[in-house]
Amino acid sequence: PVRVRFAPSPTGPLHIGGVRTALYNFLFAKKNKGTFILRIEDTDQNRYVEGAEQYIIDALNWCGIPYDEGPGKEGGFGPYRQSERKDHYKKYAEELVQKGKAYYAFDTAESLDMHRKEQEEKGKTFIYNWHNREKLQNSLTLTPEETRSRIEAGEEHVIRFKTPHEETVHLIDEIRGRINVEASLLDDKVLFKSDGMPTYHLANVVDDHLMKITHVIRGEEWLPSLALHKQLYDAFGWKPPVFAHLPLIMKPTGKGKLSKRDGEQMGFPVFPLSWGNSEGYREAGYFPEAVVNFLAMLGWNAGDDKEIYSLEELTNAFSLERVHNAGARFDPEKTRWFNHHYLQLKPDTELAELFRPKLKEQMGQAEEHFGLDYITQVVSLVKERADFVNDLWELSSYFFEAPEQYDEKAVKKQWKEQTPGIMQQLLEVLNGIGSFDSRSLETAVKEWIEQEGLSFGLVMAPLRLLIVGGLKGPHLFDIMALIGREKSLLRIRQGME
Ligand code: GLU
Repeated sequence: PVRVRFAPSPTGPLHIGGVRTALYNFLFAKKNKGTFILRIEDTDQNRYVEGAEQYIIDALNWCGIPYDEGPGKEGGFGPYRQSERKDHYKKYAEELVQKGKAYYAFDTAESLDMHRKEQEEKGKTFIYNWHNREKLQNSLTLTPEETRSRIEAGEEHVIRFKTPHEETVHLIDEIRGRINVEASLLDDKVLFKSDGMPTYHLANVVDDHLMKITHVIRGEEWLPSLALHKQLYDAFGWKPPVFAHLPLIMKPTGKGKLSKRDGEQMGFPVFPLSWGNSEGYREAGYFPEAVVNFLAMLGWNAGDDKEIYSLEELTNAFSLERVHNAGARFDPEKTRWFNHHYLQLKPDTELAELFRPKLKEQMGQAEEHFGLDYITQVVSLVKERADFVNDLWELSSYFFEAPEQYDEKAVKKQWKEQTPGIMQQLLEVLNGIGSFDSRSLETAVKEWIEQEGLSFGLVMAPLRLLIVGGLKGPHLFDIMALIGREKSLLRIRQGME
């Protein structure tokens, strides 16, 4: 059975790139009737940030991609926080030492620095590996007795991987295909630190094995670690999972990786939920469906032009083979476009409910004069032009309040000498109409215009100015019908004063 994991380090808020990784894991798991696991990689205590784990969980839930197993959801492979699995790792690191695949190293930070400087002076880079490991302070150069006594004396030490360097490491990535790495260029990475904690590499590989992970789907920034991970699996004698490294998400310009700063500078969120002063997609008014949809399309498509997918459709269509290997350019406009689309799909009553808090904020008490039914009808008339629920106010305030100002430019152009006279006459026509619905209004006004030999623009433009305050908005008779006879006539009268 397919088992995949999303394995963030709780070092801060989740970036949308991280959400995309989680999403692809989720989709792959669901498509294959597998299990989606959340594992918290918190072995680096210096980088731990309070609240980050809860943020990650909240973000996944908000997106509608909850995990099946993880903190708080035991599935028989827990605990799911690496800090609670500490005891495992040492055992595995020592197993590798026993097998001759890893070794204890006693080099101090100062002595390593010194070696680094020495090499630099010769124009070379210092790499701790086969090339020089025999000359450094470790259990390969010391006798077993000395090694033991140094450890027993409490001397600080780490465990390093003894990278088998004679070989070319053959890697297969589901997205990138075959990759060959010359092992002689790799360094002997630290597996276990002097503070008693494993490094990312050891903990990650051990846990993927213990948790029976079948597919590792993660960001491209981990591709350079793949050779080491593969060698670790080989050293343990474990079967490695399938690996798939996802393309980077690039800046809107296409040059370089998308960063938090790009969002700040160009005014779009890079986090799913707000964090500190950074606004999240949720708070900016995005629907989770839109966020999930645009993230899914950043690096994947089904091979056709289809762009709009529900989570269920994504689940059915998703495959790793169709994940691109080139970086995916982030496009803030496109992101809005997705939200616009999902807003149109929402039932008008739901939008009206979501719109209410904004109305209240704008109008205070006066909001109570308007029933849900009225707000719903307003929404149905204006939503076509809205990307976000909060856009609705800009688009529809004149349904709730008489215009306070009139668009000056439009007045200059549309308000003619004969306009007051025409409007006076129109008032009478409107007063005389039986039913004040859009159809009747249209028929009556048109008939009158023809009768009087007036032009349509001469009547409709000033009328719109008086009712709406500007020349924007949906069909004018729809607006008037909804506002009602009394308010419509009042606006015309007051506007002429
Ligand atoms: N803890 C790593 C991260 O923060 C996990 C990488 C992986 O998926 O192997 O992204």
